[in-house]
Amino acid sequence: MARIAFIGLGNMGSGMAANLVKAGHEVHAFDLSADAVAQAVAQGAVAAASAPDAVTGSDAVVTMLPAGKHVRGVYEGQIFDAAAPGTLFLDCSTIDVDSARHVGGLAVEKGFRFVDAPVSGGVAAAQAGTLTFMVGGSEADFAAAEPILDAMGKAVIRAGDVGSGQAAKICNNMLLAITMIGTCEAFALAEKLGLDAQNFYDISSKASGQSWSMTSYCPVPGPIPTTPANNGYKPGFATAMMLKDLKLAQDAAQSAGATTPLGAQAEALYAMFDNLGGGSSDFSGIYKLLDGSWDK
Ligand code: NAD
Repeated sequence: MARIAFIGLGNMGSGMAANLVKAGHEVHAFDLSADAVAQAVAQGAVAAASAPDAVTGSDAVVTMLPAGKHVRGVYEGQIFDAAAPGTLFLDCSTIDVDSARHVGGLAVEKGFRFVDAPVSGGVAAAQAGTLTFMVGGSEADFAAAEPILDAMGKAVIRAGDVGSGQAAKICNNMLLAITMIGTCEAFALAEKLGLDAQNFYDISSKASGQSWSMTSYCPVPGPIPTTPANNGYKPGFATAMMLKDLKLAQDAAQSAGATTPLGAQAEALYAMFDNLGGGSSDFSGIYKLLDGSWDK
């Protein structure tokens, strides 16, 4: 079992750190929030006084931070200098591909090991240890990271070299946003044409319009009782977080010279929903904007 530093004990990091403790690792935990550190200690972690303090003497470091600027700041400004040669870094935050490549490149230059390993699955999956990890890094670094990620997830898949995990994550979420908006539009039109939502679901879920957005996360109340649509669109996966990922996808598309017109349109629609007060609603709540019933 390893000594692991865990930095960023928010909604996601808290459950992930607890699962590393359950797997028998010695977890040294740090967050800017003292309450978050106290909660990690209650779950069996050791409190660290700072990010460098957590990293000093650790074999591996997991970071779960909000965005690229936080990751750059913590790695470049604080923890590289505290880490022993050969330390394995696992950044599980969702950040821009350029920041992931920059930080990962620096890590390797300095003689460390590094993978970007963003996750699919929300807070419930982080707590249950059932996240899916999309991993970018060399084959050797992936092999070293896999047992640590296994303790926090149900699937750990290598996407390619450093930055590829982030690339896979934002491409997946761009596709998810597009299929969700399309599914919402179809249900809204079906209703205006006089079709019953359950009846349209029964037909389309067995026809060629079927997608994960329809059959696992149906955006209208009724067909799948466990979806946010049946719980006032309480997240789940909040619109503000989907919007963040769509912005990352558009930045990456621009940087790579890719044409993503539907991704751009999805970003514009989610930005509109966010501006109209939908940011803290589940991303499937955009159904209410599209059927004209959103009145927050
Ligand atoms: P969060 O805001 O709840 O947690 C982030 C934590 O990082 C906070 O506790 C904050 O205090 C801490 N932090 C910020 N700067 C720090 C620093 N310099 N040093 C130490 N701690 C610092 O966010 P979250 O929901 O846990 O998400 C974390 C990451 O996971 C994000 O990149 C997000 O996009 C991604 N993600 C979230 C979800 C989700 O459903 N919440 C799902 C998949 C991926």
